[in-house]
Formats: sequence, structure tokens, C-alpha cells
Amino acid sequence: MGSKRLDTVADYVKAGLNLQVECACGRVVILKASALRDQCFNRSLPMQIAQLEVRMRCLQCRRRGHARIGPIG
Ligand SMILES: [Zn+2]
Repeated sequence: MGSKRLDTVADYVKAGLNLQVECACGRVVILKASALRDQCFNRSLPMQIAQLEVRMRCLQCRRRGHARIGPIG
């Protein structure tokens, strides 16, 4: 009960949460939801979290598709 659905970047913005992106290699990056939303908008990228997980590339191990995105306050 009461758990919010966070399917898109816009949902994070609405919920006032930022995104914690964790790669399989252990690298963790915090992304500001509003900044990411603007970036997605400007570059015509998908705002679906599931799609971003697939498309994001890690700056440390350079692999793509190993990101796990979750909420952080
Ligand atoms: Zn990585």
C-alpha cells in the first residue's frame, strides 16, 4: 500500500526523488531527476526507467545495459 510507481523519470520528478544508478561493476551515480528529465527531453531519449537501464553506459567499466536504477531522496 502506498508505494509509488516510478516507471519514468517524470515520476521521480513528481515524487521529489533523485535516481541512484548502480552498475554491475559497483559504480554508483546519483542523477538529479529534473536534470535527467530535461536531458531526455532535449535529446529525445526515452524517459522510461527500464529503457534507460538498457541504454545507459557506465563510465567506469564502459559496459551498457548493466545499470540498475532506484530512488534516492
Ligand atoms: Zn560499470
